Amino acid sequence: MKNFRRKILKLFGFSYLSIILLPYNLLYSATKKIINPKLTKEQKNIMINESTERPFSSPLNNEKRKGFFHCANCDAKLFSSTAKFDSGTGWPSFTESLPGAFKTKIDYSLGMKRIEYHCANCGVHHGHVFDDGPGSTQKRFCNNGLCLLFKPEN
Ligand SMILES: [Zn+2]
Repeated sequence: MKNFRRKILKLFGFSYLSIILLPYNLLYSATKKIINPKLTKEQKNIMINESTERPFSSPLNNEKRKGFFHCANCDAKLFSSTAKFDSGTGWPSFTESLPGAFKTKIDYSLGMKRIEYHCANCGVHHGHVFDDGPGSTQKRFCNNGLCLLFKPEN
């Protein structure tokens, strides 16, 4: 019975939080600007509705050349290829972003607390960042490949 009550409280806790965060989320979504007219429906769905592409679907998983990863919407430079690593998750992963490339917010969807990040320039969603990365930063930026544009170094 105690367990049951705790479950109910937990459930309410989450919904209260969504209610509190709702105006913020609405405000926040208004700041996302679609700039690139060539974006596909799937790209827009990820960038605006914060959906996630299928794991192992992005050709960028296997991208190992030197260069920079840009925002597929606004072309801002986000990651250097030197920060890319193979996380085995099926999404392009990086230990760090370029300084000032992203802004973050706490995302309580799916009943989990995760740190969502979005392009500091145009506001579109890119992925989530976790504290289990390799190397000195301990960060793992888990990015949707569809939000990125890779430009190899000449
Ligand atoms: Zn952008």
